[in-house]
Amino acid sequence: MSSPSPYRIPIVDLRAQYDKLRAEVLDAIEAVIEEQQFILGPAVKSFEDQMQKLLQCSFAVGVASGSDALLLALMALDIGPGDGVIVPPFTFFSTVSSITRLGAAPLFVDIEAESFLLSAAAVEGFLGERSRTRAGQTTDSKTGLRIKAILPVHLFGQACDMAKLIPLAKKYHLSIIEDVAQACGARLSIDAQSKFAGTAGDLGCFSFFPSKTLGGFGDGGLVVTNDKQLAQKIRLLRMHGETTKYHHEVTGINSRLDSIQAAVLSVKQRYLKEWCEQRVQRAKTYHQLFANRGLLGREVIRIPAVPKDGTHVFNNYVVSVQKRDALKQFLAHESVQSEIYYPLSLHLQPCFAGLGYGKGDFPEAELAATEVLALPMYPELTAPQQELIVDKVRAFYRR
Ligand SMILES: *Cc1c(COP(=O)(O)O)cnc(C)c1O
Repeated sequence: MSSPSPYRIPIVDLRAQYDKLRAEVLDAIEAVIEEQQFILGPAVKSFEDQMQKLLQCSFAVGVASGSDALLLALMALDIGPGDGVIVPPFTFFSTVSSITRLGAAPLFVDIEAESFLLSAAAVEGFLGERSRTRAGQTTDSKTGLRIKAILPVHLFGQACDMAKLIPLAKKYHLSIIEDVAQACGARLSIDAQSKFAGTAGDLGCFSFFPSKTLGGFGDGGLVVTNDKQLAQKIRLLRMHGETTKYHHEVTGINSRLDSIQAAVLSVKQRYLKEWCEQRVQRAKTYHQLFANRGLLGREVIRIPAVPKDGTHVFNNYVVSVQKRDALKQFLAHESVQSEIYYPLSLHLQPCFAGLGYGKGDFPEAELAATEVLALPMYPELTAPQQELIVDKVRAFYRR
């Protein structure tokens, strides 16, 4: 079947995936419609159980989106006005807007140049220089904010260095909320133990936006935790804080995972492992192609390393390049889609101007914003397509 994308090679091809799953997902959707339990019905419960087993965590709570997962996780930790959350500035918008929406403030810490991930060394430096801890409470001496949590983002499908971040969180009495929206299926290791990204901190926040490694047919999200009280709180908060019908203990919101989405996701979840492996395989192919074309270290400044231990599942394949914007245009002209995640570091967004950050504050994030380019990446991407893409990149620099 043909792709609706105007590009010969789109950045993701959801149609290709759907063509293979059509019968299975349509059956699952029909089953929900026959059941007529559209809100928190059996399909949601069953998907939550499936995710809890897959991720080997204690609790999984379906919510309306990844953005809400973050918001609810922060709410569950009672984060609000006067509180600060350590977060990288180079991430999707809602990682940070979830903090500001609650009246709390992001405390930005720069990323690592190589991986684009929150730098554990920089977090350590930040806490060492600026914070004061007294009676189990860490305060930012510059702003006076109570530092409550670290919010690392497993960006582009790659797990952050949790083995370094967790001891820091313990030392400074901070919670950890993992933004695992782009890394469902990625692994990480702590104390020689392998875990799924999202299950190492206090709370893990997943998104099922269609283009993520596990994507629904619309919005969806999940919060996971090993803490029973936090799980109960998230369940309350996603349902208006309702304890029994029309009795509200806390002020929650309406943020439930839709039953139809849960049914679709239950089908797709069974393929997640295979899809992640295929993504890693395609990253390896890109690696070989780029290495063979003699562009590396010059025009193509950097391509992602392909770790063997499953710590990167390549939700996105992001390279750093010279003349980035011109290359993007050239590729589009050749009918190859590419995207910029993200063109403006969040500390420089107009809506966050009031936070007092400025240009030059986070050099690595600012540099990344000018160099990064995401190339097509999805499990169904073929080797000839990848060859064509890399040939076009080469053609651009060899014109
Ligand atoms: C997609 C994404 C989100 C938000 O997820 P939605 O389901 O779209 O609300 C949050 N953080 C990151 C890093 C994301 O990529």
